[in-house]
Amino acid sequence: MDVIRLLELDRRHVWHPYAPMPAAMAPVVVRSARGARLQLADGQELIDGMASWWAVIHGYCHPALDAAITAQLAQMAHVMFGGITHEPAVLLAQELAGLAPDPLSVVFFADSGSVAMEVAMKMAFQYWMGRGRPEKCRLLALRGGYHGDTLGAMSVCDPVTGMHAHFARILPQHYFLPRPAVPWGAAWDAVAMEPLRQTLDRHGAEIAALVLEPIVQGAGGMYFYHPQFLREARALCDAFEVLLIADEIATGFGRTGRLFACEHAGIVPDILVLGKALTGGYLTLGAVLTSPALAETVSAGGPGCLMHGPTFMANPLACAVARAAVELVRQGGWRQEVPRLEAALRQGLAPCQELPHVAEVRVLGGIGVVELTGPAPLAALQPAFVEAGVWVRPFGRLVYLMPPYVIGDTDLRHLCQAVVAQVAAYPPAEAG
Ligand SMILES: *Cc1c(COP(=O)(O)O)cnc(C)c1O
Repeated sequence: MDVIRLLELDRRHVWHPYAPMPAAMAPVVVRSARGARLQLADGQELIDGMASWWAVIHGYCHPALDAAITAQLAQMAHVMFGGITHEPAVLLAQELAGLAPDPLSVVFFADSGSVAMEVAMKMAFQYWMGRGRPEKCRLLALRGGYHGDTLGAMSVCDPVTGMHAHFARILPQHYFLPRPAVPWGAAWDAVAMEPLRQTLDRHGAEIAALVLEPIVQGAGGMYFYHPQFLREARALCDAFEVLLIADEIATGFGRTGRLFACEHAGIVPDILVLGKALTGGYLTLGAVLTSPALAETVSAGGPGCLMHGPTFMANPLACAVARAAVELVRQGGWRQEVPRLEAALRQGLAPCQELPHVAEVRVLGGIGVVELTGPAPLAALQPAFVEAGVWVRPFGRLVYLMPPYVIGDTDLRHLCQAVVAQVAAYPPAEAG
């Protein structure tokens, strides 16, 4: 279909993420994608700086992933998971259990990151019901956090930058801590633990779990914090009988330079949540990992089971491609790729630091962030990036890169140069 017609129909019928309907800006039409590049309908190629929101770490159209999903398609695309099992799910679960730290060897599959977070939260509530402590029915989360868009997940997102303001009357009420005060790379200050200690001291008896993104807070502000926070949070959770839920949907599978971001602190959560890069960005799939002991406590409670079971649970296509993607992770190419990204992002984005309207440039693993002093002028920046041959999608004050691990050095340089040039050319609309 010709592009004009396609965009016309898109504008009439299709509602895009976090966008008004009808849309304020025309989207870019992508025809295909290979490696770290997107091919547009007009023949232009864009270097991908977003990995399709953290997911496409191995690149688009990876031969091993294409082969895995095609082979599975010849067997079956889907079958229900109640009372039935299949090789793709079993082998993926075994693989994930092998990758995750002990004792996280039990896997519950979910349809997406947000749904996996819902499952993790229900698991925590049901755990305490199983222990005869149903009053532990609140969560504790960090300001600046992001955990998804469904109602439960939204209720633990940052109450200001998240959507609380709009849904305040609808959302369940949980407790919040300030975001961890000591950034990654700064000198540790024990004062940073006081808000957590005080909140647990006061409300620990009604708190089921602390929910956090380890080390890197993603969509809530791309903030990197000190691993000591995580270490001490683990200890405080144990002391106050509160579970720790680590949302590694964005950070998992090497993005921060460790397989899981929890490894920066050497801690093991009670519940580990994975998504995004789990399938190499091929299909939507989430996984919630926990210990046999926690699973048994949940299962011994009232209803005798975890109260969750989506229609497309453990979809065989998703599991098969995820298994191939996790196998690529296990082969360990990321151990060279991510440090290479980190060095190139650090060097390539450094010139932004000199710009008067840049507040901070920060890089960790395969994540590069340029924080402006005010909101990025998206309406001008987005087409300028496309014009420059790159796909970068700023949000709020942030212009950030998290390219596929497989991106070549030349493309990576070009990507950074484009960010430096366009950020310089388009200062924030308003300061502050
Ligand atoms: C993207 C994301 C989610 C939500 O995942 P979806 O697949 O978009 O539902 C949850 N937590 C974190 C940290 C994320 O980055």
